[in-house]
Amino acid sequence: MDWREGGGTRWLEAALPGARAIFSTRLGGVSEGPYSSLNLGILTGDERDRVVANRQRLCAATGIDPEGVVIARQVHGARIVVHEGPQSPPSWPAPGADPPEADGHLVDRSGLAALVLVADCLPVALAGREGLAMLHCGWRGLAAGIVGAGAEAVGASAAAIGPGIGACCYEVGEEVLAAFAPLGPGLAAGRMLDLAAVARRLLERAGVERIEVAGVCTRCELETFFSHRGEGPDTGRQAGIVVGSG
Ligand SMILES: [Zn+2]
Repeated sequence: MDWREGGGTRWLEAALPGARAIFSTRLGGVSEGPYSSLNLGILTGDERDRVVANRQRLCAATGIDPEGVVIARQVHGARIVVHEGPQSPPSWPAPGADPPEADGHLVDRSGLAALVLVADCLPVALAGREGLAMLHCGWRGLAAGIVGAGAEAVGASAAAIGPGIGACCYEVGEEVLAAFAPLGPGLAAGRMLDLAAVARRLLERAGVERIEVAGVCTRCELETFFSHRGEGPDTGRQAGIVVGSG
């Protein structure tokens, strides 16, 4: 996974078979205050026009067609939507239309861009013979089986785990630790859970051979990323995107 820059922003990018996985930062947008500056989410109080401008900026910088971006109202579940064409009405370039409730997207490599919004949760991109998937992975979604469902749906051979809260900053309760106890040891130190290690183990169990991990903690890197735990509910959202590389 490498840092890229353009259009005034920076992002992390990983090459997957026939696809790009892109993980955005908070750098180079037009939002202010707690949303400073490349906030991509409309649900936490930022001005809609600024979010629209930020979404355009990210798409222009990364070479993604905004009309081909598919999103969902994320609910920390394991549901994955299969997209066979652009969303209608298009929720990404023109926020307002209520997208479906889901935490994962399955697309082909024709140029549709599957996108999830995150601020501590892990964005996980998958590529396989049946297509591409982008997953929003908090502990609830991981416990509900979203990684296995996504890997199976695309026949995943490769994955990229983007920036999220690290084991350094993610103290959880006993019920969360208990949810992952069946996966075996090495995923937590005391109450500090390593969410990326959980995702990696689930990917390995699903037969995914090639796994790249950003290894960046969003709460430690507040200059670069939005963090729900670091900044509270009034913060922005960055994106994880997977799109065919043509
Ligand atoms: Zn940290």
